[in-house]
Amino acid sequence: MGYLVFARKWRPQTFDQVLAQDHVTVTLRNAIKSGRVGHSYLFTGPRGVGKTTTARILAKALNCSRGPTPDPCGECEACVGITRGNHLDVMEIDGASNRGIDEIRELRQKVRYASSSGRYKVYIIDEVHMLTNEAFNALLKILEEPPEQVVFIFATTAPRKVPATILSRCQRFDFRRIPSAVMADYISGEASREGIEIGRRALLMVCRAGGGSMRDALSIMDQLVSYAGGPIDADVVSELLGLVGADLLEAIVSAMLRGDSAGALESVAGAMSRGHDSVELLDSLVAYLRNLMLVAAGAPSGLEGVSDAEADAFRRLAELTDELTVLNLIRILGAASREARRDSLPRVALETAVMTASRLAQALAIDSLPPSGAGASKPPAETPASEEAAEEPPETEADADETSPEEERPPVQEVGSAGETDEERETREREEEKNRQVFGLFDAIPRDRG
Ligand SMILES: [Zn+2]
Repeated sequence: MGYLVFARKWRPQTFDQVLAQDHVTVTLRNAIKSGRVGHSYLFTGPRGVGKTTTARILAKALNCSRGPTPDPCGECEACVGITRGNHLDVMEIDGASNRGIDEIRELRQKVRYASSSGRYKVYIIDEVHMLTNEAFNALLKILEEPPEQVVFIFATTAPRKVPATILSRCQRFDFRRIPSAVMADYISGEASREGIEIGRRALLMVCRAGGGSMRDALSIMDQLVSYAGGPIDADVVSELLGLVGADLLEAIVSAMLRGDSAGALESVAGAMSRGHDSVELLDSLVAYLRNLMLVAAGAPSGLEGVSDAEADAFRRLAELTDELTVLNLIRILGAASREARRDSLPRVALETAVMTASRLAQALAIDSLPPSGAGASKPPAETPASEEAAEEPPETEADADETSPEEERPPVQEVGSAGETDEERETREREEEKNRQVFGLFDAIPRDRG
């Protein structure tokens, strides 16, 4: 038996196996069950999310010897033929390479003949938006008077390029990107059946690199299996894909947040010496900080494709900082990424940004130092006495009594909404002060390094 790439070997063979497209598969199953199969379908969505796979399953569902059935057997002659791509009544046409009028005219001739098996003739046209206008017109004539027992399934990544006259004659299904975690679970199951060892973190890196496309993720798996020749871990994936590792990103971000610009620049230099690219590193840092921002803002459900270990790292880093600081670091590094793309000195843009970000984080951290000990409810920067108290934790009750202005304050704050308003005002004032510092720092940075 010949070698099959994973994208073919692990292709879903039933509606239930199609990932993350329940809104499509449930509707199609119901249509088949109730005998209401349309003449033409349009499957839209990004590449590699299951459009052609679903089209083939629909073809099997219609032509299975036990069918039409929502659960094709996968064993009869029709099912096997469709899976192998050599069934006489199921035609797959690549719209990109058969885009002219002649091909569609030929199709128009063939469409009239009944299917060889007496069941459905199914035409799957991939990348249908590539057809020429003449070809679309010829296709439209077929769709205006569709022959019995013929089903067209058009797939496209660019539905806006399909003429409205065609769109209006199709049932449209929008396929979605597959979430990394869903993809990782699927690949993990298939891989373990094959005896391929791959760690969870490595898997998530593969899925992220696939960008929501199962086909792309599986083609990376093909490369990895031949490259690794054994268990696949995160380092192997980083090596093959040239990805910036999470450990490196954590080291740089952690140093920046601590205001340790020397440490951050050291890590950057290390990455550069290992062959990383400045723009790639900047983009990875921005993506990393975006996740950190979600955690710092208390909205971690938006994290995608992050392992448990990485999620722990984000929680640790979030304790060092707050979302406003992270937001500003994203701005600085994002601007540097745009600059680095245009600039002849991308490394300077990277290093300047890391330096600026470290200084900024330091400035903001001084401002937001948590008040120590029992002083949690005292207003900051009120009197010299409170500053003293912030520097050294109150050791005894007697000590605290000496700072009598503070002792009088808490009862005032505890008076219901009045106390809360005070707190809110403090928070707002602190934010405003931070903003002043941030903008002051931005002003101090020369914008035009040229
Ligand atoms: Zn069958």
